[in-house]
Amino acid sequence: MTSPLKDQDPALYATIQAETTRQRRNINLIASENYASRAVLEAQGSVLTNKYAEGYPGRRYYGGCEHVDVAEQLAIDRAKQLFGAQHANVQPHSGAQANMGAYFAVISPGDTVMGLRLDQGGHLTHGSPVNFSGKYYKFVSYGVDRETELMNMQEVRRLAQEHRPRLIVTGATAYPRIIDFPAFRRIADEVGALLMVDMAHIAGLVAAGEHPSSIPYAHITTSTTHKTLRGPRGGMILCGEDMAKDVDRAVFPQEQGGPLMHIIAAKAVAFGEALRPDFKEYQKAIRANARALAAELTGGGVRLVSGGTDNHLLLCDLSPLNITGKDAEEALGRAYITVNRNAIPYDPKPPRVTSGLRLGTPAITSRGFGVAETKKVGQLILKVLTNMGNAAVEKQVQDEVQHLTTRFPVPGIDH
Ligand SMILES: *Cc1c(COP(=O)(O)O)cnc(C)c1O
Repeated sequence: MTSPLKDQDPALYATIQAETTRQRRNINLIASENYASRAVLEAQGSVLTNKYAEGYPGRRYYGGCEHVDVAEQLAIDRAKQLFGAQHANVQPHSGAQANMGAYFAVISPGDTVMGLRLDQGGHLTHGSPVNFSGKYYKFVSYGVDRETELMNMQEVRRLAQEHRPRLIVTGATAYPRIIDFPAFRRIADEVGALLMVDMAHIAGLVAAGEHPSSIPYAHITTSTTHKTLRGPRGGMILCGEDMAKDVDRAVFPQEQGGPLMHIIAAKAVAFGEALRPDFKEYQKAIRANARALAAELTGGGVRLVSGGTDNHLLLCDLSPLNITGKDAEEALGRAYITVNRNAIPYDPKPPRVTSGLRLGTPAITSRGFGVAETKKVGQLILKVLTNMGNAAVEKQVQDEVQHLTTRFPVPGIDH
């Protein structure tokens, strides 16, 4: 195959090759990552990147938009169909941009907002002081219960009544259980707040009916498109007709300029894939694998936050094994198992160290790992974690990992 990139820019070409090798070789348990299909990658790498299309389909500020209009309308129509939403904006460049657009659409600077604490599974854009959200709005954070480690709905209600927020945000980056959208909506109604659900992590599960949908309960729903939904890196906003104009204006012209038409085309492709029956099977398998991994690790002495998982991820507490998240992440990395350290609720250790690991099954499930392979992954993890500092064990696990990963090619990469 000819490669203009290889000829013109060998350094960059080699870097992409090295990353391709890493993706093929490693077991990826990062809960927010996935492998986009060949078709999604093709659309994403297309000439649509050349086109300026400020505005929306049929209402652009540039000539020559007749084809990208079709692409964006396909993405919009498929997103609406997939989630049963009245309106979809598919232009946010990322999940963070989707959240910014949603805030711009429904609240004003200085307004009071509630969100889940960052150190208990919330996202930077849910009010972190280092993020625009924490700088522009008065965020009041709720947390999880110390005993159950579930979102504490009594605390949400108490804080909502005390602070009277304009908006309540829920959604998480590291929460292994079902989120109770009807309960959030009841509390929002009691205090006259709007409800926003950020389903970035669970959008694929929601699309497939493997997690309850936010659409009947939330006034506005945001998401990424690249996590369980398995599309290109990007974001979107879903809402009712009543908010459509405000949302569209908030994304363009308020927060963004020209939309990434190649990414929007790839979103259309991914939503098309998610509408197929096999996507439901895929999301079911993600959950079955997460449960299998949970059982295996629990059997090996790992404590799971909340005692288990209902979705695509587990949050492991490694303190029973006397290991930090940082050391575990590094040791597993040496054995070609990619994970991320993660704070557990009320973690006594600092954020750069942590007591926990977040493990997700979307990527391995896309590779075709079933319950048997996932149990094997659990055993390999335990082998590393119970032999910390043993280079020979790490090497053995490396070999076993490569044995597994060569059997299961990464979708989207030629073998
Ligand atoms: C990943 C994530 C985001 C941000 O997505 P980016 O595309 O990285 O900006 C926002 N909210 C939640 C809950 C997420 O998990």
